[in-house]
Amino acid sequence: MTRSTTYITASQLLSLKRRPNIAIVDVRDDERSCDGHIAGSLHFASDTFLDKLPSLVQSVKGKDTLVFHCALSQVRGPKCARRLAEYLSDEMQDDAGIKNIMVLERGYNGWEASGRPVCRCTDVFCKDNSEHGQQSNQS
Ligand SMILES: [Zn+2]
Repeated sequence: MTRSTTYITASQLLSLKRRPNIAIVDVRDDERSCDGHIAGSLHFASDTFLDKLPSLVQSVKGKDTLVFHCALSQVRGPKCARRLAEYLSDEMQDDAGIKNIMVLERGYNGWEASGRPVCRCTDVFCKDNSEHGQQSNQS
């Protein structure tokens, strides 16, 4: 069974993000370090994505929804989402517990352009906890 990928808008993601069982996966390459990122997202660059798939699956243990994005979510985001779906079905990783694979519409650029919370830390796994009610800081 190959999971299908669906699209999600930035405002849908903002409300979903409060749930503990969702992971946001940023597959941009170098842009992450200069442009900032969605608070709380994980970074798995698209150019090494296939190699990192097993560690991605490990990192999102306990999450049932994964939201992929790149800068615009037109090429890299959907491609990596599809690769994960194929990986999960090929490897029979049904115990991974991932039920929903989604792609963020308009990607990071759309997210940032609409003034949603971004973070500029340098962590691969951003630990921002904006779901705990803190307001986005407009700096
Ligand atoms: Zn961060």
